[in-house]
Amino acid sequence: AKSAGGATFRFFDPSMQAAVDASTSLETDLRFALARREFELYYQPVVNAMGLMVGVEALIRWHHPKQGLTGPGAFIAQAEKSGLIVGIGDWVLQEACRQLARWGGDAATEHFTIAVNVSARQFRQEDFVPRLLEILAHSGADPRRLKLELTESVLLADVEDTIARMTALKEQGIGFSLDDFGTGYSSLSYLQRLPLDQLKIDQSFVRDMLRVPHAASIVQAIVHLAGNLGLHVVAEGVEEEAQWDALRSLGCGGFQGYLFARPMALAELAGMTEEEAAP
Ligand code: C2E
Ligand code: CA
Ligand code: CA
Ligand code: CA
Repeated sequence: AKSAGGATFRFFDPSMQAAVDASTSLETDLRFALARREFELYYQPVVNAMGLMVGVEALIRWHHPKQGLTGPGAFIAQAEKSGLIVGIGDWVLQEACRQLARWGGDAATEHFTIAVNVSARQFRQEDFVPRLLEILAHSGADPRRLKLELTESVLLADVEDTIARMTALKEQGIGFSLDDFGTGYSSLSYLQRLPLDQLKIDQSFVRDMLRVPHAASIVQAIVHLAGNLGLHVVAEGVEEEAQWDALRSLGCGGFQGYLFARPMALAELAGMTEEEAAP
């Protein structure tokens, strides 16, 4: 503990105060956002090598009362810091599972998977596993169609605990995807210990792969590694036809990016899947 007697003084800096004000008002707004039903899930299609839709990733959006439609980059970090992410993450899981159950009743969508991003604080909640199982049971969704996306830092924070949680959920059929792969610091030996199903190649490598030889080598290495470990691999941030071609020739099997579709509201996605299903 710090010594109580030795007070240190720092000079007031108006820019610091502005930052504090901004983050407390964001937190206040966030606190009410759930009750006011300001969040919405957008869905971005994931396609296979033929360009056919095999699932979606759920991505949260916030209809901020003043700022309008706001992406997670503007609030997820703050939600993590304040702990509000636990309630928000709970809502995301409920909403995604409800939607998954609805898709189960339709031939065009019954095989879709939904990938849901789970943050560190949410995953480490004491009751994360039973809560999720309760949400799933309540929704009636097929657990085999649900994938949780976690990052390396989340998985490796406490490997033993991570493996226990993942194993409990995998027994119910839930899948696991390692997000932003290649940007973290994981020792590859952990990869084989974690009961993963999929790696997602971070979009930074996809963005650079046609221009920067190292990026292409990293993509190739990830695809091979995934193949050798028996994991699916999805490339994120595919924006150009040439990237898609290059990824396919490397043996990558799943793709996500603006080339295929942006994240979109449910109604827009429903329009797309109907078109696809039409003869
Ligand atoms: P992420 O999981 O890596 O999600 C992919 C991000 O890339 C999304 O940004 C998506 O809109 C964007 N993206 C997709 N295709 C392309 C493309 O072709 N080019 C480019 N430049 N970008 C593309 P978004 O929706 O802003 O989400 C940002 C991050 O926020 C996500 O990164 C994820 O880490 C986090 N996030 C999103 N939804 C949730 C959530 O429900 N819970 C938690 N805990 N985090 C979430
Ligand atoms: Ca993700
Ligand atoms: Ca990602
Ligand atoms: Ca990311």
